[in-house]
Amino acid sequence: MIFVGSPGAGKGTQAAKLAEYLGVPRISSGDMLRETIASGTPLGKQAEPLMGRGNLVPDNLLIALVRERTAQEDCAQGFVLDGFPRTVRQAEGLAEMSDGEVSDWTVFSVQVPREELLRRLSGRRWCPRCQATYHVSSNPPKQDGVCDVDETTLVQRNDDKEEVVARRLEEYEQRTAPLIGYYRERADMVEIDGNRPMEMVFADLKKHVGVAA
Ligand code: ADP
Ligand code: ADP
Repeated sequence: MIFVGSPGAGKGTQAAKLAEYLGVPRISSGDMLRETIASGTPLGKQAEPLMGRGNLVPDNLLIALVRERTAQEDCAQGFVLDGFPRTVRQAEGLAEMSDGEVSDWTVFSVQVPREELLRRLSGRRWCPRCQATYHVSSNPPKQDGVCDVDETTLVQRNDDKEEVVARRLEEYEQRTAPLIGYYRERADMVEIDGNRPMEMVFADLKKHVGVAA
């Protein structure tokens, strides 16, 4: 399963719920990149300035990262992709690594108006240890500013600051939105109204994965 949506559309939130529900791994390209940065690898050093400015990281790096991750044993029964592919080139790379069986995939295109995206991104808080995501008002932690899972102090991601968000939304429009047309022609494409409470969006997703809600 694949999620295509703007930054802030709720891909990470929904992908995590769906992966747990289906008992398969969630593969988040953003989380993997942030891990490579935290561990100081050469890939992390290359990705960090690009992510900091809100630009996409080169396709070949992402394709290699996802290829390696999806080859692991826990992905044998399927997986939920969050944040990948983000360009047509990446989608082609994914098709190649999966022997081209694109018609077997469910692609969720999650739509949310810009004003709500900005509200979500500015209020997003993140646990630098376990990468859990919260929102100051829509999805607050139990204790203010502290991760429910491991009690780490929550932070705002550098790229959720206003000046970087504008660039990320541009990258989405120019390079990721064309994926909607790409998958409409090739896969089982489901349009989801993401501008609703999280549980309502999730109930909708469950209907489309063919498991009783
Ligand atoms: P993405 O991975 O698409 O960038 P996230 O899942 O991280 O999006 O969600 C962005 C922010 O919006 C987070 O702070 C999250 O808690 C919040 N959020 C996610 N889904 C909803 C929703 N349906 N309604 C309100 N806020 C949401
Ligand atoms: P969001 O949840 O807001 O959509 P992510 O955590 O998925 O953000 O991504 C954060 C940043 O990581 C992106 O702005 C981009 O720089 C980089 N990134 C993540 N996934 C990809 C990808 N598939 N291709 C290129 N860059 C990516």
